[in-house]
Amino acid sequence: MAYDQGNVFAKILRGEIPCNKVYEDEHALAFHDIQPQAPVHVLVIPKGPYVSLDDFCAEAPAETIAGFFRAVGEVARQLGIGGPGYRMLTNVGVHGHQEVMHFHVHLFAGRPLGGMIRRSE
Ligand code: AMP
Repeated sequence: MAYDQGNVFAKILRGEIPCNKVYEDEHALAFHDIQPQAPVHVLVIPKGPYVSLDDFCAEAPAETIAGFFRAVGEVARQLGIGGPGYRMLTNVGVHGHQEVMHFHVHLFAGRPLGGMIRRSE
C-alpha cells in the first residue's frame, strides 16, 4: 500500500492540525490519543512516511528503527509508567483494525489492563 500524505498523522507532523504533544525528537513524535482507551493512552509515530510496522521494518534504515524504539522507551520513562507497567500495541492492516495508515504504536497505562485480546466470537 502506498503512503497517503493526507492521513491525519501526516497532517499532525506537518503542523496542519494540532496534537497534545508529550515528546518529540528527530525520530519520533508522541501525543495523547484523541479518544483515550486507558487513563494513559499515548501514540508514538515516526517522522517518516511509513504505512505500518510491516512497512517500517522493511523500508526504514536501521538507525531510524533504533531511534524510533529508543524514543518509545523514553516516552514511557517520561510518562512514569514503567514502574506499574504498561502495554505497547501496534495495529497492522485490516485484521489488525488499523485505522490511521501512518505507523504508530499505542502506549496504554494507568490501570491494570487485563488480558491481551477479548474474544469477539
Ligand atoms: P489505529 O486503529 O491503531 O490506527 O489507531 C488510530 C488511533 O488514532 C485511534 O486510537 C484514534 O483515537 C487516534 N486518533 C485519530 N485521530 C487523532 C488525532 N487527531 N489526534 C490524536 N489521536 C487520534
